[in-house]
Amino acid sequence: MISDYVNKTPKSKLLYIENKHFMPYGVSSNYRYFDPYPLYLVKGKGSRVWDVDGNEYIDYNLGFGVLEVGHANEKIIEVINDAIKDGSIMGFEYYKTGTLAKMICQRYGLDMVRFSSSGTEATMHSIRLARAFTKRKKIIKFEGHYHGSHDQLLVNVNPLKPGIKTPSSLGIPEEIIQNTIVVDWNNIESFEKVAKEDVAAVIMEPVAMNMGLIPTDKEFLKTVFELSKEKGFLVIFDETKTGGKFYSGAAGYFNVKPDIVILGKAIAGGLPLSVIGGKREVMELIGPGKVAHGGTFNANVLAVNSAIVTLQELLTESAFYHMHRLSEMLEMGYTDIAEDLGVELSIARWGPSGSIYFSESVPKNYKEFIKLDFSKWFTYFYVMLSSGVIPMGGFNEQWTVSIKHTEEDIQKHIEVAEEAIRKAKE
Ligand code: PLP
Repeated sequence: MISDYVNKTPKSKLLYIENKHFMPYGVSSNYRYFDPYPLYLVKGKGSRVWDVDGNEYIDYNLGFGVLEVGHANEKIIEVINDAIKDGSIMGFEYYKTGTLAKMICQRYGLDMVRFSSSGTEATMHSIRLARAFTKRKKIIKFEGHYHGSHDQLLVNVNPLKPGIKTPSSLGIPEEIIQNTIVVDWNNIESFEKVAKEDVAAVIMEPVAMNMGLIPTDKEFLKTVFELSKEKGFLVIFDETKTGGKFYSGAAGYFNVKPDIVILGKAIAGGLPLSVIGGKREVMELIGPGKVAHGGTFNANVLAVNSAIVTLQELLTESAFYHMHRLSEMLEMGYTDIAEDLGVELSIARWGPSGSIYFSESVPKNYKEFIKLDFSKWFTYFYVMLSSGVIPMGGFNEQWTVSIKHTEEDIQKHIEVAEEAIRKAKE
């Protein structure tokens, strides 16, 4: 219940009252705010985080899916401590960036990559690149998919504002989204209607992870690739989230070769680094006097070293086996709870991540997602928080299991979830 959360977090409340004078809603990202006030965290270690009141939580949000290596991973600390002795940013290119580029190309089946610092920047650059390559303007995106905080793709992604093509933020003029076509996810017919010769690219989360977790219809995916080829537009996989869920991301999982792939979040072990990669003929268009791509903090020393150790030593095949196995235990736990309590609860999981919906079945798309009643979810969320488990970052997010989570962590999650779901049912 919300009152339990409030009783346990008086210092967060005080900080919020102070901070909101200097920061809107007292936070640095809208997605960190929830009612009645955000939780202020002090530190993390492994699968745990601690708040300003000293409460300990098992963390399944993990920085919105970033920290698959766990909080304050020893290897990352060591590599960063070493690297920073030589400086944090070179201005001109850092000599190890090519090593990382090669590693990522080989692992994710890409010909070439460029680095940025956030998913937002990478998707923004990717649509510019696609437009330059095809000499076309239109971009297809799917309803409920999120590609970061830049204007052109911030269309109808606010879960609280359903409807047709409306900017999901104040301050985005209609003209800016006029070349963005928004269609239903997992809907072949809707896609066929818009897949035309004037489209530069279709951008998608290969598994939708900004409306919980909505699995991808394989026939639908096949149609997207076929039509893109037929009509001459590019396929952009925004793997900001999915890229860290399987060893070679969603493209590897589905065994497809998108023209452009974006990576971010988990791949640098907690440091800001993103990737725009893809086929050589597309990527070679980036360069001075051609497609603009820049960024002062791109591939900085700390992010590069952290990414190298993350990919080489931490997010290994066996690490994925561990994360997937624990995540499957969690899925089974939720399935049992639903059966035991007789609650309408549906569960979707993909690798180390999963989500729950208080509904008979997992929604297929945004239209079904937005119709759900989230009041039960919020009761569940506050009970989880006040019992020491952060189950996920929000009702449109998902759990993530890290390499540091243990079976005991999963058992605790399931125990607490049973109580939370019982309360939500009342
Ligand atoms: N793309 C996807 C699929 C995301 O989930 C996110 C963030 O959650 C982004 C892009 C934006 O990434 P960033 O927050 O690093 O800008």
